[in-house]
Amino acid sequence: MIVVRTVADLRAALRERRGGSIGLVPTMGALHEGHATLLRAARDTDETVVMTIFVNPAQFDEQSDLAAYPRTEDADLALAEAEGVDVVFAPETSEVYPDGFATTVSVGGAIAETLEGAERGRAHFDGVATVVTKLMLAALPDHAYFGAKDAQQVAVIRRFVADLGIPVTLVVCPTSRDADGLARSSRNTRLSPEERARALAIPHALQEVTDAAAAGIADTEALHARALATLEASGIRPEYVAFVDPLTFAPVSVVDGPVLVAIAARVGSTRLIDNTVLGGA
Ligand code: AMP
Repeated sequence: MIVVRTVADLRAALRERRGGSIGLVPTMGALHEGHATLLRAARDTDETVVMTIFVNPAQFDEQSDLAAYPRTEDADLALAEAEGVDVVFAPETSEVYPDGFATTVSVGGAIAETLEGAERGRAHFDGVATVVTKLMLAALPDHAYFGAKDAQQVAVIRRFVADLGIPVTLVVCPTSRDADGLARSSRNTRLSPEERARALAIPHALQEVTDAAAAGIADTEALHARALATLEASGIRPEYVAFVDPLTFAPVSVVDGPVLVAIAARVGSTRLIDNTVLGGA
């Protein structure tokens, strides 16, 4: 495994590997088993696996969140090596955003403006779209791997990849969960034991909604009320519990096809998101 810090070195490392397919796994580091599932999917498919580690300042809406974001490069490199990654691209901020940087990739409409876009501000998905575009242009991968846990991020990336005609196939991997159901996240390390226990109300609320929908309740207002009750029983007041079309993020009032149920909530000072899809897909 080699570690490179510049786009020039990344391109040089990939030059002689272009005969086979290249898989790109973008991350912000602080790797856990969820990231490992993406690396394994890439390892299973692609001849060369490129993982990036970059804590992208442009997508953080809170300076305190950026400052507190865990940085564990040594452990990340060890995990990457164990998962068979070929090339790690871990640039400095100045390599990604050199002096004079003035371009933003910005997806319009509900996909980027609702839910996470509304809570975290327009700049969040602009930051994601801009950095992922840059990483794709730097690595020119055949496949790029993303987690379903960040469903809106996937929808945003799908949109700009299609709109800009970037020749990459997106692969979306299922949300990886701890044994008790909590979605794995780099931010989970910030939860106290008491907060971690309360955070379980989030996957429980998703399960409750899934069971109710399977039992024939199709009215999303009724499903919303059930999710809210489960969250509030654990003292969690969510930022949103949303029922939307998984591709457009338009709100859905009746479950009669695939519906994304997305939850965002603070547990203590840690902001968590999770989701599931109802009605197939
Ligand atoms: P991050 O380092 O949080 O930016 O995540 C990097 C990639 O890993 C993104 O595509 C995430 O959606 C994905 N990811 C993070 N957590 C999980 C998880 N629990 N299950 C599946 N994918 C995940």
